[in-house]
Amino acid sequence: MNAPRRWTPDAVRARSRRLEESSPQAVLRWARGAFERVAQGTGFGPSGVVIMHMLARQAAPGERDGLTFFFLDTGVLFEETYALRERLEARLGVHVRAVEPRISLQEQANVCGEALWDRAPDQCCHIRKVRPLKRFLRGQDAWVTGVRRDQSETRRETKRLEWDETHAVAKVNPLAAWTREQVWAYIDRHDLPYNPLHDRGYPSIGCRPCTEPAAAAAGDDEEENARAGRWNEHEKTECGLHLAE
Ligand code: SF4
Repeated sequence: MNAPRRWTPDAVRARSRRLEESSPQAVLRWARGAFERVAQGTGFGPSGVVIMHMLARQAAPGERDGLTFFFLDTGVLFEETYALRERLEARLGVHVRAVEPRISLQEQANVCGEALWDRAPDQCCHIRKVRPLKRFLRGQDAWVTGVRRDQSETRRETKRLEWDETHAVAKVNPLAAWTREQVWAYIDRHDLPYNPLHDRGYPSIGCRPCTEPAAAAAGDDEEENARAGRWNEHEKTECGLHLAE
C-alpha cells in the first residue's frame, strides 16, 4: 500500500468539493486512507456516537493503526457522560483517550479563583478545552468531528472536509449534511447507547457547570437550536474548538 500523501490546505479544499455528495461512511473510509494519523474527537453527543460506530465497523481492531478516539476531559463532565464512554468502549471495542488540561481544577482555582466558569467561561474553556485540543492535534493529520449544519447558525456553512487553519490539520465532518432526525434514526436502528441526559431535556451536553436542560432557558424553542442549554447566563454558544481564531 502506498504511503499516504502530505496534504496542503489547497489540496484539502479541492478534494472537499468532490466529497460533498459522498455518504458519511465513504467520507470516513476516504479519510482513513488519505491521512496517516486520524483522530475522532467526541463529546459523546449523538453525532459522535454515530461516527464512532461507523469507524469501529470499518476498522477491525487489528486495522486501527493511526486511528485514535479522544475526548476533552475537563474534569467537570457529567457522571452520565463518563459512564457512556465506558459503555461505548465495551460495545464497540475501542479505547477513547482522555485529553486533559495541564492544570487540575484545584490549581485553576488557586490561580484564577473558584468557579472560573461562572465569571469568565472563555478563559475556562481556553484552559480546559482549547489549549489541550491544540496540543493534541499537533500530533494528528486529520480531525474527525460530529459538527452538523443544522446544529446552529454558526455551523451552517460546515463542509464534509475542511482545512482547519487554527490547528493546521484537515477537519473531517462526515455528518455535516445530516439532520438531528437522521442521527437519532441511526442510533435507534443500531441500538447504540447514548447519554440518558438527552431524555431529561438536554439537547447538547457539555460540562456540568455550563449545561442546563434547554427548556430552562429557551421555553419551547429548544428544537430550533441543538446547542441550546449551554452557557445560558452568557452570550457564548461555542467553546472555541470549532471557531477560527
Ligand atoms: S464548558 Fe464551562 S466548565 Fe467546561 S471548560 Fe468551558 S467554561 Fe469551563
